[in-house]
Amino acid sequence: MIRVHALRTGSVFVRPSQIIGRAPFRRLRPFLERGWSAALPILAFLIEHPEGLFLVDSGESPRAMTRGYFPPWHPYFRLAVRFAIADEQAIDVQLRTLGVAPSDLRAVVLTHFHTDHAGGLAHLPPLRTLVSRIEWQLAQGVAGQVRGYFLDHLPPGFRPEFIRFDANPPAPFPRAMALTSDGAVMIVPTPGHSSGHVSVLVTTPAQRFLIAGDASYTEAALAARAIDGVCPNPRSARKTLATIAAFAEASAAAARPFIYLPAHDPDSEARLDSAISR
Ligand SMILES: [Zn+2]
Repeated sequence: MIRVHALRTGSVFVRPSQIIGRAPFRRLRPFLERGWSAALPILAFLIEHPEGLFLVDSGESPRAMTRGYFPPWHPYFRLAVRFAIADEQAIDVQLRTLGVAPSDLRAVVLTHFHTDHAGGLAHLPPLRTLVSRIEWQLAQGVAGQVRGYFLDHLPPGFRPEFIRFDANPPAPFPRAMALTSDGAVMIVPTPGHSSGHVSVLVTTPAQRFLIAGDASYTEAALAARAIDGVCPNPRSARKTLATIAAFAEASAAAARPFIYLPAHDPDSEARLDSAISR
């Protein structure tokens, strides 16, 4: 029996022009705009598979609420984002609420290295943690901090295992890495929001779930093929959205409902709940 659970590690508020990017000056607008989005969830997902428990993303840490967690010089964290995270929303507490001891996880997969996906690692014991090599390289140094990657928040001695795309990919994804021997849990590349971004595809007899990180912030943005306001490579972001949409259409044509689960979509949890009860 394969099951997917959503874990909410707090809320984030961003500028509306970050959710759906708008030209011209797409990447500048989130810094200039006034007004905030609604509270968006910061989701991580737990996959239950007969071979073990897999965590996709680790959410943000409640430490993000303390002064000095982010460098004071950073324009994005000064101007363009606000967090609301209670102590009991830390990933380890969320896992225990589901009856899972963090040390029981078989592996953690990070969709990308942004702080609200990797920050929760500080609350987990040493675990096999799969990250794209590109993300790890982009995370290094001050340039990494500018991108929103904070290696100093990671537990001491943290070393990732790099994702190796060596499995037969489900079309139209170009590459894949299988996490389970039956191929029911696979990592697929979804670059664009960040250059090494990946998603996790979970296939059950009746459904296909795509745990999509920030491939888009919402299902509506996917439907509109609308890229976000922060991604560095619009061309690869659009290509990724087209690939996911084509996969969704192929799933529907094969009578396999496709459930899209971005990390910050206010409707992800409801979509997951209704998929499970179907
Ligand atoms: Zn991100």
